[in-house]
Amino acid sequence: MDALPAVSKRLSIGLSPEQLQAFDIYLSRLLIESPRAGLTSLTDRGAIQRRHFAESLALLRALEDAGVFASPAIDIGTGAGFPGLPIKIARPALELTLLEATGKKAVFLEQIVRELGLQNVTVVHGRAEDLARDPAQRGRYRLALARAVAPLRTLVELALPFLRIGGVLATPKGSAAPREVEEAAQALAACGGTVERVQPLAAAGPGPAPTLVVVRKTAETPERFPRRAGTPSRRPL
Ligand code: SAH
Repeated sequence: MDALPAVSKRLSIGLSPEQLQAFDIYLSRLLIESPRAGLTSLTDRGAIQRRHFAESLALLRALEDAGVFASPAIDIGTGAGFPGLPIKIARPALELTLLEATGKKAVFLEQIVRELGLQNVTVVHGRAEDLARDPAQRGRYRLALARAVAPLRTLVELALPFLRIGGVLATPKGSAAPREVEEAAQALAACGGTVERVQPLAAAGPGPAPTLVVVRKTAETPERFPRRAGTPSRRPL
């Protein structure tokens, strides 16, 4: 591990030798399993550290600074575990659900969670539209994370049903964030959300810094949301 100690220091996220080793194991597993499970298009260790690890830790820093980092949390469409798993390695007390629709990725998540000996992480193989109908899951979370899953208007419908009132959806976006926020007005009104922050995240490497969008759940989400699997992205609110 080269880039990570410097990044964590810059973000004031102290990582013990054991935590750095966990990131190292995670990185090796990603590189080994990626061709089979389609985990990441990146093949360079430095690029993975920046795009996947450092960006996830920058999100953690922003969430703590904003006072919205809380358990339990759900990472929707987590893929190979981003941003949820790096945050969990850095903050072991977090109670975390990793939700992923693709079976091969869910299997990878199960394996890496076991290998790293992480406690209080639940991997769920399924779609947000379906899991949000589970009474044990609906309205359960204080924090929902999602990166690179859907435009904000769709994400609002997928994520807000999981939150209790007062909980937040935190999602890193690209340069289109302000437009996505505008286009999400109807979805926010329908699902009970209010945009609380749109702010730059610490850049993890060259190129433009991502933009963090934080949505707070301020009213109950009507039972009809989310609509059935596929509809939120096909016919966004
Ligand atoms: N968040 C990860 C992965 C992004 S790719 C990262 O930033 O690296 C988007 C992932 O979301 C894919 O793995 C896809 O299978 C998953 N996904 C998309 N729609 C979903 C849904 N409705 N429910 C659960 N997972 C979903």
